[in-house]
Amino acid sequence: MTEITTTTTTTISNDLQQNLSSEIIVNLSSDTNETTLSTTGTTNSMLDSTIVDEPPTKKCKLTTNDKPRLLEDRLSSILSCCICLDLSTLPIFQCVNGHLMCASCFNHLLADCKLKDEQTTCPNCRCEISKSNCTRNLAVEKTISELPIQCDYCLQIFLRSEIKIHQSQNCPDRPTICDYSLLGCNWNGPFHTLSSHLAICEYPTKTGLELIETIRAQKRGCDDEKKYLETVVDLLSLNQIGVSDLILKPCRTDDFVAKLYFETSRFTALQYQWQVRARINDNIPHPHTIVTRSLSYQLVLKSKISQTIDLKFFILKGPHGDPSTSQIQPIIYHYEFNQNNTETEYLKLPISSQECNRILSSSSISFRLLMVQLDKP
Ligand SMILES: [Zn+2]
Ligand SMILES: [Zn+2]
Ligand SMILES: [Zn+2]
Ligand SMILES: [Zn+2]
Repeated sequence: MTEITTTTTTTISNDLQQNLSSEIIVNLSSDTNETTLSTTGTTNSMLDSTIVDEPPTKKCKLTTNDKPRLLEDRLSSILSCCICLDLSTLPIFQCVNGHLMCASCFNHLLADCKLKDEQTTCPNCRCEISKSNCTRNLAVEKTISELPIQCDYCLQIFLRSEIKIHQSQNCPDRPTICDYSLLGCNWNGPFHTLSSHLAICEYPTKTGLELIETIRAQKRGCDDEKKYLETVVDLLSLNQIGVSDLILKPCRTDDFVAKLYFETSRFTALQYQWQVRARINDNIPHPHTIVTRSLSYQLVLKSKISQTIDLKFFILKGPHGDPSTSQIQPIIYHYEFNQNNTETEYLKLPISSQECNRILSSSSISFRLLMVQLDKP
């Protein structure tokens, strides 16, 4: 964190020095970074004196020898995220003092602090930040989309607002696979070489005999997927099904070093009382020091039972889940609850690390739990 602040300050200081030749630019930079400068004690006075007491000789030297930086470069450094110093991940959030953070860094920061049980603060000015007191900055987002960016493939310059379509549909150098990849051709290359490959590709003229193995392998993949979906449909047609829309709320253990975990309130399904608990990175110590995050959950039976409950269950996004969350690919788990076994082990929730941070940074996690009690044979 300290490192980042230092880097940012250095960048600003360089900006200021390089822009000394132009009054307007000095004003622009110092306005935007006012809060940063005022919070960095010594740097502040140093910069102030730089602005006020700059000897005229140095000013002349800068204007004559150094090429003035392009407007878009100067804007880029002003509008970039104060944590990753990048412009690429929209939306852009800002603290109450106007310091900019990209969505990915913002969520990561909130998730980290939640794991450490600390109040999240702005890396620039140390003011408190949360989902409710930070706002998006649409003007910055729109300005960023008007700034140029280089295409990863052809290296031409485009507007950020156009780069996605260019790279996916129009770039002559975009990576392309052969039209006959379904038949097994592994060729890939830049788009402009596709037509010359197609002229010599041998796959369209192969015989059924030569292609049958590839097609069999493809069919096996489809069959597995079909079988899985059939299992879900079969489960849903059973007699005893419980559908529960649940909310996991953050809690802390009363250990010496309190650990963060999540818990739902008790709920009734299939005539029994249940609870779901979830934990991050399988409760390893210091989860905030690890970049990749994972969530696992446990289903706990709270009712006293005398007979066995043979249960299959899986988690779905549900109607109250965040609409931006990509669909959770359901994994079906199977467990037999009895008097002595009332808690499943911790089971993986199939979401990405980035999604996990996004979930962690929000105040609660909504999901749907489907439980199907298997009929006694
Ligand atoms: Zn960032
Ligand atoms: Zn700030
Ligand atoms: Zn391109
Ligand atoms: Zn081919």
